[in-house]
Amino acid sequence: MIKTIKGKISAVYLCLVAITGIIGLVSVINTYWIGRSIDGLMVNNYKSINAVNNMTEAVERQNNAVLIYINYSSSQGIDQFVKEGQEFNKWLNVEFNNLTEPGEKELVTKLNDNYINFTKLFSQIQQSRDLNGTAWADKFYNESTLPAFQNLKKSLNDILALNQTSMLQHKSDVTASANRSMYIIFIFSVISVTGGFILSRYAMNKSLKPIYSLRQTMKAVGEGDLTRRAEILSDDEIGELASEFNNLEEKLYEFEQSTMGQLLKEKNKSMTIVKSISDPLIVLDANYKIVLLNNAAEKLFNINEENTLNKHFLEAVRNGELYDFITKVYEGGSKTSSQEILNLPYDDNELFFNVTVTIVKDTKASMDGLVIVLQDITELKQVEKMKTDFISTISHELKTPLTSITMGISLLKDKNVGELNDKQKEVVDVISEEEQKLSDLIRNLLRMIKLQSKDSLLNMESTSILGVIDSTVRNYYEIAADKDVDLHYEVDEHIPKVIMDAEKISWVISNLLSNALKYTNAGDLIVVTSYIKDEKLYVSVKDTGLGIPEQYLERIFDKFVQVNHKNSDNSSSGLGLAVAREIIDLHGGTIWCESKIDVGSTFTFALPVR
Ligand code: ADP
Repeated sequence: MIKTIKGKISAVYLCLVAITGIIGLVSVINTYWIGRSIDGLMVNNYKSINAVNNMTEAVERQNNAVLIYINYSSSQGIDQFVKEGQEFNKWLNVEFNNLTEPGEKELVTKLNDNYINFTKLFSQIQQSRDLNGTAWADKFYNESTLPAFQNLKKSLNDILALNQTSMLQHKSDVTASANRSMYIIFIFSVISVTGGFILSRYAMNKSLKPIYSLRQTMKAVGEGDLTRRAEILSDDEIGELASEFNNLEEKLYEFEQSTMGQLLKEKNKSMTIVKSISDPLIVLDANYKIVLLNNAAEKLFNINEENTLNKHFLEAVRNGELYDFITKVYEGGSKTSSQEILNLPYDDNELFFNVTVTIVKDTKASMDGLVIVLQDITELKQVEKMKTDFISTISHELKTPLTSITMGISLLKDKNVGELNDKQKEVVDVISEEEQKLSDLIRNLLRMIKLQSKDSLLNMESTSILGVIDSTVRNYYEIAADKDVDLHYEVDEHIPKVIMDAEKISWVISNLLSNALKYTNAGDLIVVTSYIKDEKLYVSVKDTGLGIPEQYLERIFDKFVQVNHKNSDNSSSGLGLAVAREIIDLHGGTIWCESKIDVGSTFTFALPVR
């Protein structure tokens, strides 16, 4: 059994070569036999015909010699007769040696007899003519010799006719043989060509079938059917190829099974986690169409993921406020994530949510969209409100007794209730200082609560910053003078008016001044400056006091942050700067501090000039 394609092709090729060789051989053999038949015809019959013709001519000349002998010259007649007799015998010999046709031998024997008879009759004429005369000789010739001559010629003609007939017979034999050969070669050629065609077609189909089958399998696999296997139809190179392909595919299938399974498992795991997150979560694509909703989001918005998938956010969730925030974040595009507190209606209640919108842009995974997480902070808000309400109530409650205390201290200090001795004065000063701190605290607490409440609207109007600074600084001249601190302001009187809430900006400057005075000592300097630059109004409060350690500079504007100053027993509440920042933020401005320990601090805020 041939196992290689090369071997199979070579075998088919050899078969075709063998068939062509056989056709050639058959043709050569047939041509040889036809040649042989023609040769037989030419050599045998032609030889006999030629001999008969020569004998006929010789015998006719002998007959003439008899007549010459009788009528003209005896010697000439005898000479010619003898000479032609030799010629006749020569050809008779040839004919005797070329007896090829059935019956030819008998005819030649008869010819020989007739010839002997003819020559005998001429001998009789020779013996008797001189005796009986020419007339007798003529008569004898006519009565005996001429019939013998005619018998002789008849014999010759019989032999000639036999050979001619045989020749004709041979001709039709040769024609028949040639036709037969032609048919044999034709039939053999047809059989060979058909056989060769069938053989090569069979061999080709047999060789190509595994290739077609492998191609079909490859196509199916290419289209994703990894369960298809190639049929092993031969054990040649194609069979090996199919077997290798099956091995490869087996591995591919196993790999796909394991990867797919793994992926599916991981996906289900992630989905279960996402679905069970207690905070509502929504994923949108770049066209704000819903890609995913978790259970909490379904419950909050009273919708169903199945019915809302691929629907526009507004169509599914129907919350304009939330949509506005999402579009603001996505179309703003500057930050990848933003937070805002929104209240959303839920079951006749209002819930507060800390909404975080995160932009997802991953070109590799071709994901482009948004993840929205709503963190329910309603309880936190309620606690905060309770706390604020409580602080507000306490602060308001404290304000009335504090006013009485302030008035009492004022009466004591003004000596309206009598002269105080030094010890009493000292006590009153301490009470006054503490009262001041308490007043600051309560004032800042109330201001903070007011600023953070919903109704903290600014009273914006065109204001001269010089006026605000002048009236605020004025309140602190006395304290500065008591501490021996040089307090003044340097503001260009042509500075144009700027739109602001004058009262609240005064609170800010007041807090900054109060701090500056707290952390400066006798001989220090406090300067308030203001100027306009790049469409912004700048106000700075600079002191040459204790300064603030660098690590606090970022945090001092946060609520309740206090700095532990060496050489200072000033306890603070940590609310003044927080209130200041809240007010500046509401104005859309910025506030910051530059400071160096033992050199001093500069607090600056900038407001946009509108
Ligand atoms: P408070 O209202 O109690 O003064 P603030 O929020 O105004 O609190 O200030 C926070 C902290 O910043 C204070 O504890 C103080 O230590 C520090 N601070 C504020 N201003 C100055 C200043 N001009 N020099 C040094 N320290 C300052």
